[in-house]
Amino acid sequence: NKQILLDSRPEGEATASNFKLVTRETPPLQDGQVLVRHHFLSLDPYMRGRMNESKSYAQPQPLGEVMIGGTVGEVVESRSPKFSPGDKVVGMGGWQEYSVADANAPGMLRKVDTTHVPLSHYLGAVGMPGVTAWYGLVKIIEPQAGQTVVVSAASGAVGSAFGALAKARGCRAVGIAGGPDKCRYVEQELGFDACIDYKQHRDAQSLAKALKQACPQGVDGYFENVGGMVMDAVMLRMNAFGRMALCGMIAGYDGQPIPMSYPQLILTNRLRVEGFIVSEHMEVWPEALKELGQLVGSGKLRPRESVAQGLEAAPEAFLGMLKGRNFGKQLVQLV
Ligand code: NDP
Repeated sequence: NKQILLDSRPEGEATASNFKLVTRETPPLQDGQVLVRHHFLSLDPYMRGRMNESKSYAQPQPLGEVMIGGTVGEVVESRSPKFSPGDKVVGMGGWQEYSVADANAPGMLRKVDTTHVPLSHYLGAVGMPGVTAWYGLVKIIEPQAGQTVVVSAASGAVGSAFGALAKARGCRAVGIAGGPDKCRYVEQELGFDACIDYKQHRDAQSLAKALKQACPQGVDGYFENVGGMVMDAVMLRMNAFGRMALCGMIAGYDGQPIPMSYPQLILTNRLRVEGFIVSEHMEVWPEALKELGQLVGSGKLRPRESVAQGLEAAPEAFLGMLKGRNFGKQLVQLV
């Protein structure tokens, strides 16, 4: 069983030398356990926070242990009546080819139906990133039909789901993404009403001008994935009583400061700004996953994936995602 461990903590930018590849025997199964062969490993921005010593919202990852991570795969051996060999499952198997899971631990391993939804999408649109988009939109932004909502990192796992959910509620959905290819995809494949390439703008004022064209009625709801200049620009366009769901600040995950230039706008526009962590709202997951499964099953949400091949490719794919080299949900295919 090949595994990738966290070998050292990054100082500033994370590098491939922070990870170590090892091969170990899989322990024999105990009663109540199942052996899962991973087909795909999910790479997510939150993993960068766990590489640090200090606690952010997630506990730090212990050194010398397998990197944590969401996985989908197939049960190959079972000592639990709840799972049979051949079952397709989603779990938190980590950066390794196989994992031993406790079938009785609540929420750790879940059977999934691959008739209408491809297995890999349970790590993206019909998984944690999709529920993240759902929570921020439905529970924090609470949009009404006809309102304008904006999301940054719009072509990514969370952003793409956000667009489909917003369109389903009759909103005007506007994305912000890096580069012409991502913006074209956001408008043409994901069905957003407009997408702005932030890389074409050197400051928040210039980006805010482009946003004014894309959002003639102003912005009622903003879903923040990035922070910094992009956030400043959207704040300049927020309507009175707008809502901002703070989901991620990827521009600062390697330790860079991310200043906020216009905090006074929160006051003058009476904005509601709320951060959230999706794993603290397990009560919404069934409802959110149901809607997301329907959107994917009916073809209304066609999420893109960046798939790296083989466990050895995971560190570089992860570091690339933090720099925006992924185009859609970043995965590693293991078989
Ligand atoms: P994505 O698939 O969106 O990949 C990350 C993207 O972020 C990149 O493709 C890149 O897109 C963009 N990006 C990276 N660096 C910068 C930068 N400096 N400035 C602007 N954009 C940048 O990842 P996810 O969809 O998985 O995650 C999106 C966000 O959601 C992250 O911030 C993540 O931490 C957060 N999140 C939060 C959760 C919560 O519970 N609060 C749960 C899950 C995710 P581009 O090329 O367009 O710039």
